Amino acid sequence: MREIITIQVGQAGIQVGNAVWEQYCAEHNISTAGKQQRVTKDNSFKVFFEETSSGQFVDLEPDVIDNMKSGPLGSLFDKDFLLSGKEDSANIFSRGCFLGKQILDKMDDQLRKLADNCDNLMGFMVTHSIGGGTGSGVGALIFEGFNLYYKKKVRVGCSIFPSYSISSSVVEPYNALFAVGSLLDFTDIVLVFDNESMYNICQRNLHIAKPDVSNVNRLIAKVMSSMTVSLRFGGELNASLDELQMNLIPFPRLHFLTTGMSPIVSKMDVNTISNDVQTITDECFKPTNWLVHYNSFDPMDDKYMSIVLNYRGNITSKEANTSIQWLKKNDKVRLVEWCPTGFKIGLNDIPATILEQDDIGAFSKNAVMIANNIGISRMFNERITRKFDLMYNQRAFVHWYLGYGRRERQFGITRQDLGYLERDYLDVLSEQITDEAVDDYVNDDNNDTNYY
Ligand code: GDP
Repeated sequence: MREIITIQVGQAGIQVGNAVWEQYCAEHNISTAGKQQRVTKDNSFKVFFEETSSGQFVDLEPDVIDNMKSGPLGSLFDKDFLLSGKEDSANIFSRGCFLGKQILDKMDDQLRKLADNCDNLMGFMVTHSIGGGTGSGVGALIFEGFNLYYKKKVRVGCSIFPSYSISSSVVEPYNALFAVGSLLDFTDIVLVFDNESMYNICQRNLHIAKPDVSNVNRLIAKVMSSMTVSLRFGGELNASLDELQMNLIPFPRLHFLTTGMSPIVSKMDVNTISNDVQTITDECFKPTNWLVHYNSFDPMDDKYMSIVLNYRGNITSKEANTSIQWLKKNDKVRLVEWCPTGFKIGLNDIPATILEQDDIGAFSKNAVMIANNIGISRMFNERITRKFDLMYNQRAFVHWYLGYGRRERQFGITRQDLGYLERDYLDVLSEQITDEAVDDYVNDDNNDTNYY
């Protein structure tokens, strides 16, 4: 058995995580009290669930908020792994780091217990937001810890980015900049989510006049369940977390991914649309069905480096391949010139489970796209660096960060690194391999390829 440990950090991380666990429980017939209601022969679900001697299931996650214990999923989790501090982070990244250090030993110990208990740990998935103080600051401590102890495991961030026009605190750009700096250095894959895009989907597709975070969290849960479906169930063309990483990430720094899903249609509209494979594939690539940055996406310039398309329901590989050929032929998807294949397909015959509390309608077939699209770089600029520059040029609010141990030069270094990241995304459009890249390759000690 290869396991994944999930960690939920901060308010958004916990709430999104809860929605995801509800989804996993429903898909594996496990009650929220932790009992498996119908025993199945397929044990793949144990990738995420761990069974105790009392026959209950315990999640594989240390956590930071006490009130999980009294929530509806309280008895699903082992209380020892619900960790909390005494004060909140007041929306300041460095205060989150400062307070997080007080419970760091406990976090590390509990994480080690979970990791030691695994047969063959595949990796970690962390849900958090990067605009607040806890998800960003404590998240950064957790990612640094991975880098010390679990560097060879796949480290996945499921990260809610600040929105363009809605913000919960004025210092979101500072928090997000530091958090992206740590995601950049210490994770292998980041699924980027944008609340504003998801609110729009809820209004436009699901007819919810005033959506709130619970509606949005249910959308994220659907995407994450489809991303992990091949880990939790057997199926044709399945991929492990390592294979996902290998297929999606052509360059280590460029690991911030775009997700899309289809159908996203309300329960009352289910009978009004077609559910054939070509339609759901086409819809999946329309930016209006994306959970991130759709309004700033440019279909002509923003090319894909790689795409994983996970289908669920009764779909054959022939049908999937035909739809992908159709997409390419009709110029619906533009891949970078140096990666013409670009697609990895996953097939799982169990459709996504629709829960009573879901706004989305049930379909016998659905698709989730996880893609490495260079358009994500615009998101860094619009959501983080541009706003950061405006505030930091005046040194506004900087003293709050210095007061909790951040040094002034860390602002400049992290800002510069994000600038390089934006440029790295644009560089992949160039077909010319640079002399510098060739030199790096030739000088790399680990590279034993012979040159003639
Ligand atoms: P933290 O606990 O200090 O990390 O702060 P939060 O998690 O509340 O981070 C604030 C950001 O997260 C803001 O952009 C909020 O809009 C967003 N947020 C808070 N709760 C949720 C949630 O349950 N779901 C989603 N999708 N976003 C949330």
